[in-house]
Amino acid sequence: MERDNFMKKLNIQDTFNTVLPADPKSENTRRQVFESCFSFVTPKMPADPTLLHVSEETLRVIGLDQIDSKSDDFLKVFSGAKILKGTDPYSMCYGGHQFGNWAGQLGDGRAINLAEVVHQNKRWALQLKGAGETPYSRSADGLAVLRSSIREHLCSEAMYHLGVPTTRSLSLMSSGNNVLRDVMYDGNPSYEKGAIVCRVAPSFIRFGNFQILAARKDVKTLKQLTDYTIKYFFSNIEMDIKEGYIQFYKEVSEKTLEMVIHWQRVGFVHGVMNTDNMSILGLTIDYGPYGWLEGYDHAWTPNTTDNGQRRYRYGYQPHIALWNLAQLANAMLLLIEDPKPLEAIIEKYKIDYHLKYVEMMKSKLGLTEENETDKGLISELEDLLQMTETDMTIFFRSLAKINKVKMKGEGKEFLDPLLKAFYEPEKINYELTDSWRSWLNKYIDRLGQESTSNEERKTKMDKVNPKYVLRNYMAQLAIDKADNGDYSLIDDLYQMLKTPYDEQPKNEKWFTKRPEWARNKVGCSMLSCSS
Ligand code: AMP
Ligand code: MG
Repeated sequence: MERDNFMKKLNIQDTFNTVLPADPKSENTRRQVFESCFSFVTPKMPADPTLLHVSEETLRVIGLDQIDSKSDDFLKVFSGAKILKGTDPYSMCYGGHQFGNWAGQLGDGRAINLAEVVHQNKRWALQLKGAGETPYSRSADGLAVLRSSIREHLCSEAMYHLGVPTTRSLSLMSSGNNVLRDVMYDGNPSYEKGAIVCRVAPSFIRFGNFQILAARKDVKTLKQLTDYTIKYFFSNIEMDIKEGYIQFYKEVSEKTLEMVIHWQRVGFVHGVMNTDNMSILGLTIDYGPYGWLEGYDHAWTPNTTDNGQRRYRYGYQPHIALWNLAQLANAMLLLIEDPKPLEAIIEKYKIDYHLKYVEMMKSKLGLTEENETDKGLISELEDLLQMTETDMTIFFRSLAKINKVKMKGEGKEFLDPLLKAFYEPEKINYELTDSWRSWLNKYIDRLGQESTSNEERKTKMDKVNPKYVLRNYMAQLAIDKADNGDYSLIDDLYQMLKTPYDEQPKNEKWFTKRPEWARNKVGCSMLSCSS
């Protein structure tokens, strides 16, 4: 009875694996897959699956509710132990540029798409991450560990509630299998608990899905994939004509820019912006060694694997998004055949980026009116934030409390409303104090030109400057507890991060700077791709 209900509620309507060409081989062996968009795969049977957490919002998105998540079928289906009737799970074939170099075929090495469901006229693909090997697993095991799965589950949902385009996470399961990982790549591997996350998104197609076909000069399949993507996800665009493909590329470029501007707004650093980790729908995808800016620093990256080059550092993300778009343009060129319209779109990204970045920073500062000095005000602030180790989240939240009253006095008291944001307030010397006074006075002068009241401005600022983000150490605390069998902090953080812009008195303890112990701790400021 229960089983029937659960099955019936999911309105399964597969397209990717019914419309597009499939790899004719069905055995689960590592291989190069040509002239196909995916390979059919059966998830691995987990040793002892246990549901650790479920997102009730994502459940609702696909037409399920809490009761369904308690059923035995839910446990089996979303851990890979059982295949939904009438579905054919599969892994996608894609390539990618990793750290700037073409890496050839990559593919879903540990992701298996279960099915697509349509609920309230929206299409959702359900995908397990960590459910075993696929033809694309290369030398790896297709599994995921608990720590990285907790990070992906919590952060996907937190990003959604922050208003950042993202893939969602339905469920977090432990698999009961042990997984061998060398966390810091220092020759000290150890066994960790295995886990499986079920991700949910309209589609998991990446830039790399197009790139691999273009690299192989497989224009036929490239065209099929592009027409498919347009038909199902860009339905306002005409398929099968060059103008349509140009418009498609333009919209991907716009969506990508919008996503990355949001990242800059909330202080999110993806960490591995390889082209295989760029969603064609402009969604944040593949939560690996990501991190949140605590001390505001354009050069910061959480990814230790990228420590030398810092290719994926915070301040460079919009540029890398464009670099990735240029790689996608190279792939689309096979269909469009004329580079000019693509080049024009790339040029437009550069212009739009500057406009949108200033607009976004102005919203963080509570500025709405036009003023040509705003760019200068913003860059002066950015310099100051970098010179004084300042917590980004606390700073902007506190700035909303500044009133349109000129700073007086020679001392440091004027900094009091912002003091909580500084990591080492005692290190703010005379010169820096002076610079802060000068900046704040300019800012207050500028606020004088705004017609909004202090109260109205604060309300507006609090809607773009989150109070609570998934600080790196917070996720780590949830992981440490989970390793000891206590999963309560996962839900506490999940609940808090559902309303990140609200004042939450009971959660005030999370509105504080990163503790000193977390400054250089593995998992907090140092993360690797090992997951
Ligand atoms: P990532 O940097 O995590 O986006 O992964 C890059 C590529 O490696 C993708 O093709 C992944 O599917 C694959 N990959 C990462 N981890 C594993 C794993 N444990 N098993 C199999 N493939 C993996
Ligand atoms: Mg990836």
